[in-house]
Amino acid sequence: MQDPIASLKALDIFFKKGSTQDYAFRKSRLLALKAAIRANEQALHEALYADLKKSPEESWVTETGFVQATISHALRHLKQWMKPRRVATNLLNLPGRSFIQPEPLGVVLIIAPWNYPFQLLFSPLVGAIAAGNCVVLKPSEFAPATAAVMKKVIGQAFASDHVLYLEGDGAVLIPRLTDSFRFDHIFYTGSTAVGKLIYEMAAKKLVPVTLELGGKSPCVIESDANIRIAARRIALAKFSNAGQMCVAPDYILAHRRVKEDFIAELKKAILAFYSGKPSESYNYGKIINEKQMKRLVSYLSQGRIVHGGSFDIGAGYMEPTILEDVKPGLSIMEEEIFGPLLPVIGFDEFDEARSLIDRHPDPLAFYVFTGSREKERKWLEGVRFGGGCVNNVSWHLTNFNLPFGGRGNSGTGAYHGRFSFDVFSHKKGIMKTPVWFDPSIRYPPFKGKLELFKRLIR
Ligand code: NAD
Repeated sequence: MQDPIASLKALDIFFKKGSTQDYAFRKSRLLALKAAIRANEQALHEALYADLKKSPEESWVTETGFVQATISHALRHLKQWMKPRRVATNLLNLPGRSFIQPEPLGVVLIIAPWNYPFQLLFSPLVGAIAAGNCVVLKPSEFAPATAAVMKKVIGQAFASDHVLYLEGDGAVLIPRLTDSFRFDHIFYTGSTAVGKLIYEMAAKKLVPVTLELGGKSPCVIESDANIRIAARRIALAKFSNAGQMCVAPDYILAHRRVKEDFIAELKKAILAFYSGKPSESYNYGKIINEKQMKRLVSYLSQGRIVHGGSFDIGAGYMEPTILEDVKPGLSIMEEEIFGPLLPVIGFDEFDEARSLIDRHPDPLAFYVFTGSREKERKWLEGVRFGGGCVNNVSWHLTNFNLPFGGRGNSGTGAYHGRFSFDVFSHKKGIMKTPVWFDPSIRYPPFKGKLELFKRLIR
């Protein structure tokens, strides 16, 4: 295998040739990527089943189809995104013209986690290619079947001096790469703990970062919510991919007037979606590895199990589980659960619920179920969070017109749709001044011009 550091230099040389600047080139690479994904779609679905027991339907909606829709969206809008954007010019600079011109950043590094191993590597890749960059892709080492097919897809769609696919232990490989090469941007998706290390590595060379991190995303159910709909939508998002989803609701805050009804409806939804034997359900995934299984098993004793609770460590099976009486301070309420365990906590007053949320500032997502505009407003204004939904869970990330990202502890920066193009572009602010107008007031001698300057510069 070629030395990765030597390969990085080849990307730099390729970028500096300027070929990626061209609209036709970017479009052709996006089309090639789409074709390679299509050609390997079945292999990708089989690999996602091997790594996470995702059904082809789930893999399509959350991984392969999602990325193809991302490419189609980029292709539809790319010409527009690339155009310099005219902006107004202030009085002082008239009759000049001003515009913002996007330009590619250069060679960027994209690092992905294992839970949506394809989507979270390829969706930022689409933005980076659309914006005209060269890219180094670092997949997660914990979804090896998917990583092997992704390598093939990248090999079919790109020359290795345009997009380089590098596998390995992130803790070893990433410091090596960042020490020996200055990336123009690092886009990282994964845990907050590793996100901090990435930020430190990037800071040494003043490399800008996008950090897509995790956290404890709360979901509030108000007394006036449609409880059946809330239960079905929450069950879908919480138990999809066996709860290993960054925007899954981490815990439920249910108004005490509706808490018992909600739990009853949630049990019904679990039975309807995954049957009485989720371990055999076509629709139910598995936990990625033994380390994650053991972490989840340790949470089971930290509350009263009111549904589920069975598991099989060897098979990576953890039943959809509802817990009550979880105590703040225990690890299940301190760490991101990232699995199919759902604590349900009752509340009577807004402030009581919000003080529980405030124990973990800036969650990646926040959800509220309510029929009242007033309550909706109060919650949306009263909690700081990355993004979220009213009367729904997790689906905000499928609307490419919305920025997707966290704030503070849950991340910095946002992507999807046009926002992905922007993440991977520098925006040059440019003013063009005509030469036919060159008033002497601009030049020395300045004596006596103060009043005129005061009128022009206000
Ligand atoms: P992780 O941080 O362990 O790994 C992510 C990537 O970082 C992998 O490619 C890995 O090789 C690399 N890595 C690991 N240790 C490293 C180190 N010391 N130095 C440099 N790189 C290193 O994360 P994970 O367990 O794979 O993912 C789970 C977390 O990701 C959860 O917290 C979840 O909420 C979060 N997540 C966030 C989003 C989002 O869009 N915001 C999406 C998915 C997952």
